Amino acid sequence: MAYNPKSMCADEFIDDGEIQETLRYAEENKNNVALIDAILEKARPRVTEKGTVCAGLTHREASVLLSCEIPEKVQEMYRLAEEIKKAFYGNRIVIFAPLYLSNYCVNGCVYCPYHKKNTHIPRKKLTQQEVEQEVIALQDMGHKRLAIEAGEDPVMNPIDYILECIHTIYSVKHKNGAIRRVNVNIAATTVENYRRLKEAGIGTYVLFQETYHKESYLKLHPTGPKHDYNYHTEAMDRAMQGGIDDVGLGVLFGLELYKYEFAGLLMHAEHLEAAFGVGPHTISVPRIKRADDIDPNVFDNGINDEIFAKICALIRIAVPYTGMIISTRESQQVREKVIRLGVSQISGASRTSVGGYTEKERPTDTEQFDVSDQRTLDEVVRWLMEMGYIPSFCTACYREGRTGDRFMALCKTGQIQNCCHPNALMTLQEFLMDYAGEETRRIGEELIRAELQNIPRDKVREVCRDNLEKIRQGLRDFRF
Ligand code: SAM
Repeated sequence: MAYNPKSMCADEFIDDGEIQETLRYAEENKNNVALIDAILEKARPRVTEKGTVCAGLTHREASVLLSCEIPEKVQEMYRLAEEIKKAFYGNRIVIFAPLYLSNYCVNGCVYCPYHKKNTHIPRKKLTQQEVEQEVIALQDMGHKRLAIEAGEDPVMNPIDYILECIHTIYSVKHKNGAIRRVNVNIAATTVENYRRLKEAGIGTYVLFQETYHKESYLKLHPTGPKHDYNYHTEAMDRAMQGGIDDVGLGVLFGLELYKYEFAGLLMHAEHLEAAFGVGPHTISVPRIKRADDIDPNVFDNGINDEIFAKICALIRIAVPYTGMIISTRESQQVREKVIRLGVSQISGASRTSVGGYTEKERPTDTEQFDVSDQRTLDEVVRWLMEMGYIPSFCTACYREGRTGDRFMALCKTGQIQNCCHPNALMTLQEFLMDYAGEETRRIGEELIRAELQNIPRDKVREVCRDNLEKIRQGLRDFRF
């Protein structure tokens, strides 16, 4: 196969030969200081007439940095990642929660407890009434943004069921609560089904590649529709053709060699840019975890926290305009480290079992994976603020039509500070009024007062100040 980022065939845009060649080139140049310096230089943010811009890196350039183990250079990578993160994402961290709809699944994914042959996991699918109850529980914590998750089962979880659930989620209005953005993480599907998801008002369509290594992929997904590597890998193209221009990539680290996955992930991003003119909206970096019937130690390619942090930093450097997501698979300690290096979205107070939010105690029998960070949303919000971040419940962009290249344009022209920043403050103010504990509210009010000064445009700052006051008086849902 010949490598071709514009091709619509997975074997060509994720060409194995190109990845092997990239890994060889990276290994050969891992101590080539002149080249490493030139790559770091290329990636640095530059102030231009249009605002701060970043060139990003190709998969080859980024792979050289990943292979480089020279301690001073690695520290430089970390510093650069922090700088880029500050330039484009400021100190905001967007918060969301997963909502598991159904764990019925016909696939045989060997790392996932929902695999078809697992007979000791109770199978469950939420009714619309149960969806409503889960959403009320999530709203009562303060969530405004969800990622819905389901196993693949055309009979038990057809697209009509998923659409019905989305409709239910958006229609629940409990006290001052509302879910304003539903992202969707369901199996690869058809252009027509993506079109219907778009019409239902979804935010991002997320699908993890699991592994870009085709041979391993086929072994790790021995049975079921997910076995089809090309259909799975080309899913984002069909999503784009169906009108969804915010798509989220990810690999499940631990399944294959991380250097291979890293190159594949960036090649996938380059493909979307080459074929559709817009890169991925987000990249997720899940690591494999213990779960029912799953022992992560049987997978040979687990990565330690240090390599994990380096991967996060290099994703930030290579694709500066792509959001990065980290879930509660990671501990508080790991999250602290990688948030600094480039993560822009985190989940909080997650329950990864079907129907988990309405149970008094965290249920573990239908969990998709062990949750490392088990804190409440109030604790997560307070923790972020104590570290100097602004927890954001903002969902404005897609509601204002700022998706795909329109979002990227906003990001690239630095207008994010006049838009995302005030939106973060206003949605945080809502959280403080409706859901926060006393101490969280005190810290939050102080933070909002200070951060209001960091809105560059006078007019925007004035409107934001007014809106914050209106929120204190009981009004809701303002946005720029
Ligand atoms: N069924 C959908 C599909 O086929 O893509 C996606 C939903 S699945 C609920 C979400 C993701 O959880 C999977 O894509 C996989 O990467 C991840 N996952 C599965 N088993 C896991 C495990 N043991 N530890 C951590 N993450 C896991």
